[in-house]
Amino acid sequence: MKQLKDRIRKDGRVLNGDILKVDSFLNHQIDVVLLDEIGREFKRRFEGEKITKVLTIEASGIAIACMTARHYGVPVVFAKKARSGNIGANVYTSVVHSFTYDRNYDITVSKQYLSADDSVLIVDDFMANGQAMHGLIDVCEQAGAKVAGIGIVIEKGFQDGGRRLREKGYHLESLAIVEKMDPENGIVFREQ
Ligand code: 5GP
Repeated sequence: MKQLKDRIRKDGRVLNGDILKVDSFLNHQIDVVLLDEIGREFKRRFEGEKITKVLTIEASGIAIACMTARHYGVPVVFAKKARSGNIGANVYTSVVHSFTYDRNYDITVSKQYLSADDSVLIVDDFMANGQAMHGLIDVCEQAGAKVAGIGIVIEKGFQDGGRRLREKGYHLESLAIVEKMDPENGIVFREQ
């Protein structure tokens, strides 16, 4: 998605070699016009898939999921990050290792909002090692829901979460795939 890649080149900042900061349009301040285009692009890329829910993880995924779900006219469900020991009954839970904070946390989704009748599009802001996505897929499996597709705004192609999910047969679409990012070359995207 050219508009997105141009924006990452213009406003993205690389931290510690492997963290891409996009706070000015995605992770802190949100450009809703760009996000609306992102939602439209996901709808186009998953054309033909039946989608009954858009699933994501709080907090950064929520805006992306909302702007995607409005193109389908379906609800958004977001997994909550729970403190261990603070998990109620009637929820699906999974453990996720956070790439950015290097710690484990639990995620929960109420059984009320995900069931075997659902065909789910999972969306998130970044794909690194795929840990967050594995937690969301795990939740869908517990619910018996179908994972109809996975939509990622920015995939870091030098980490292997995306490759492993594609190998498992998931329909994964990333709107921008960063091949490498360093001070000499800047941010280099994969040709798609
Ligand atoms: P994964 O679970 O695939 O290893 O990491 C994905 C999650 O970590 C995303 O939900 C995102 O919040 C965070 N993340 C991973 N890499 C980056 C990055 O380079 N920049 C930002 N802003 N978040 C990242």
